Amino acid sequence: MRSLILLLATVLCLSPTSARQQTDPRRDAVDHRVDSLLSLMTLEEKVGQLVQYAAKVQGRGDTARLQEEHALLVRSGKVGSFLNAVGASLNRDIQSIAMTRSRLKIPLLFGYDVIHGFRTVFPIPLAEASTWEPDLIQKAARVAAIEASSAGIHWTFAPMVDIARDPRWGRIAEGSGEDPLLGSLMAAARVRGFQGESLTQTDALLACAKHYAAYGGAEGGRDYNTVDISERTLREVYLPPYEAAVRAGVGTLMCSFNEIAGVPSSGNRRLLTDILRGEWKFDGFVVSDWGSIGEMQRHGVAGTLAQAAALAITSGVDMDMEAGAYHEHLVELVRTGKVPPQVLDESVRRVLRTKFRLGLFDDPYRGADPAREKKVLLAPEHRKLAREVARRSMVLLKNSRALLPIAKNGTVALIGPLADNREDLLGCWSGRGRGEDVVTVREGMEHALGRAGSLLYARGCTIDTADRSGFPEAVEVARKASVAILVLGEAALMSGEAASRSSLALPGVQEELVRAVAATGVPVVVVLMNGRPLTIGNIEESAPAILEAWAPGVEGGNAVADILFGEYNPSGRLPVTFPRSVGQVPLYYNHKNTGRPPQANERFTSKYIDIDITPLYPFGFGLSYTTFEYSGLSVTAPVARVGDSLTVSVTVRNTGKIPGEEVVQLYLQDVVASVTRPVRELKAFRKVALPPGGEQRVDFTVTPEMLAFYNLSMQRVVEPGQFNIYVGGNARDLQSISFRFDGP
Ligand code: BGC
Repeated sequence: MRSLILLLATVLCLSPTSARQQTDPRRDAVDHRVDSLLSLMTLEEKVGQLVQYAAKVQGRGDTARLQEEHALLVRSGKVGSFLNAVGASLNRDIQSIAMTRSRLKIPLLFGYDVIHGFRTVFPIPLAEASTWEPDLIQKAARVAAIEASSAGIHWTFAPMVDIARDPRWGRIAEGSGEDPLLGSLMAAARVRGFQGESLTQTDALLACAKHYAAYGGAEGGRDYNTVDISERTLREVYLPPYEAAVRAGVGTLMCSFNEIAGVPSSGNRRLLTDILRGEWKFDGFVVSDWGSIGEMQRHGVAGTLAQAAALAITSGVDMDMEAGAYHEHLVELVRTGKVPPQVLDESVRRVLRTKFRLGLFDDPYRGADPAREKKVLLAPEHRKLAREVARRSMVLLKNSRALLPIAKNGTVALIGPLADNREDLLGCWSGRGRGEDVVTVREGMEHALGRAGSLLYARGCTIDTADRSGFPEAVEVARKASVAILVLGEAALMSGEAASRSSLALPGVQEELVRAVAATGVPVVVVLMNGRPLTIGNIEESAPAILEAWAPGVEGGNAVADILFGEYNPSGRLPVTFPRSVGQVPLYYNHKNTGRPPQANERFTSKYIDIDITPLYPFGFGLSYTTFEYSGLSVTAPVARVGDSLTVSVTVRNTGKIPGEEVVQLYLQDVVASVTRPVRELKAFRKVALPPGGEQRVDFTVTPEMLAFYNLSMQRVVEPGQFNIYVGGNARDLQSISFRFDGP
């Protein structure tokens, strides 16, 4: 087959990172300062810069202090960074030890997991991705940076950019779902939001794209488990969001716990050096994951911690988080020639360069200001944005007979273990969030109802026990109401790290509660709060309306009320496929066709004998209180050649009675190629707001990159032939048109 090799640099915009490297006048000056500092450093001090520990702190609040054991490390220059030291006065205090008591006065770098907010907790990242609004999520990350930096944090271990196709994996909650394009746009937006205009801003937070790489590909969805994927899948599905983060200028990356095809990431030179620095020109530094260097012993690629240290640093891991491998062995490894001094120097340079870029040498206490901290944490405008993001992240999955929105009068029954719950609305990795900050659904609804209606509450059951003793009360309050709202789901820590599940069902007896309440005949609305897709086919049968609210953060209750009462018309769309059964997993929209695509009446085709092959809700899906109609799908020419510009257009019309927003999605399929291609891949999308009866023509430019893929020799190419274009509101309900690409 003829193929046209794309010179990507001429087709794509040059990477902003490399562009910045070439044009930034401060870069040379920084390198000069780094080199002169390096020349003053002892071997021990160099190694110290590559060591990170979780700070051992005694006391709380204003009396918190670094324990002597760690203060000693700071004084002797044996640690370069702490994680989990949080608070303006604590961090100023710790920094002052480095600045007044250590020989070279190299400032410490303080890191913390600021994943979806610091004190103002936003919806979990999977929810944020459901907005399909990267600009909005950039603003949320900015708020997180403003708050965290005021508390003395310089560096966040975010964004988490792992693509996840398996909802059993609890960490799916921390990322942007299953799609490389949506994941890449969200990754870049978060990097821009955290890091701000310039890293020297005192409210900029150095970002860290993690977990490099393919951590989400764990077999069986079991956290930390083996990953064994092809080079093609790695390049096409898992790597794009990391590369997007690098292009957006991310300052650091974290390597992952897992192995890929026999090579643990902490010792993967190809990933950490050849691809990351060679191909992508990344010039920041790489931190290990917690203890991951040491874990290479249990992976079975290092016999001792010293060997693990040597393998990690020569592969490209610059900083050792918590394993103690560099702290204990790197000096000796360099002395005995097992690690070349240049390798050590290069890692130290990367860390120091980052500290210079952050402006730490000019102001080691940058941003850490107890007065500012008091002022910005949970600031009213931060809460306002959290509410906006939360309501925009919720996905209306079902709304039979237009049950929603409900009127603000009459009697509403509010039932369920998450209806009057605070902590679990924060979700996993909730930073400095506190339950007391959370607006519960009960509060949000009471506030919205005011005196116009009344709210009856019953918990009904817990999240995950078999206790049914609250059922009668729940049934009783439902009987008195005209509608029953059931707020159900998972506890915060049922997703996130080390929270894999073998079942995707609602835990405990919650499904039974839905049935018991529905049996009263009162219409039931289920509001789900969870960190992953759940198999909710059973509750679908008894609930005419279902709203996916994810773990919605501090303003969750207000956001739910906004949607239930129609103050906001839902516009969220799923960033991940909802399976019917856990047995279908992994189930994702951009799969291959196989030689025997499923056919209803053909036994010997690729399907299950006991369940429909289709998902319960497809990727990209989400309803609105209005409806949209697509028409007039067209492409500028049926045949295109190199250099032609090609535009796909479609008209979207709001056919309902209220304003609403639709996410117009463009998918492409390369019909015949030298290697098999997915049945469709998301290539662009646009969220449009339309008044009732309003319509808009939406244009998408088809770029060569959208047509490109890795051929047999792993070159990025566009091959001539037919391409199918699909446009619609989700990955299932699509209109299509084709064009031919004829090559040069
Ligand atoms: C997690 C990382 C996190 C780190 C520091 C690890 O267990 O995998 O995502 O950044 O801990 O808290």
